[in-house]
Amino acid sequence: MQGAGCVLCGRPTYDPDKRERPWARGVSGGRQVLTCPQCQVTRPGWDASLDRCESCGSTRLSLTLDEVTCRACGRIQGTVDVTDPVVQHLLEP
Ligand SMILES: [Zn+2]
Ligand SMILES: [Zn+2]
Repeated sequence: MQGAGCVLCGRPTYDPDKRERPWARGVSGGRQVLTCPQCQVTRPGWDASLDRCESCGSTRLSLTLDEVTCRACGRIQGTVDVTDPVVQHLLEP
């Protein structure tokens, strides 16, 4: 995704002013995408197309190699949550 811009308006990436919100990183359809500060403000539902964490619902997902990790709760998407009581019950012999 080097040299990519905003997934919504195509604006090239830049370092936002300190007072501005940062670019939002997310994952959409298995691709890392960026949303510029302006689109986050001016487009309601700008994050609707982003994938969400299976565990906490956050769109703050990070794509690394072939894994999508939630930066809000640390959950790796598409894996079994072994701390889930339902899963623990299924894993019992
Ligand atoms: Zn934009
Ligand atoms: Zn999460």
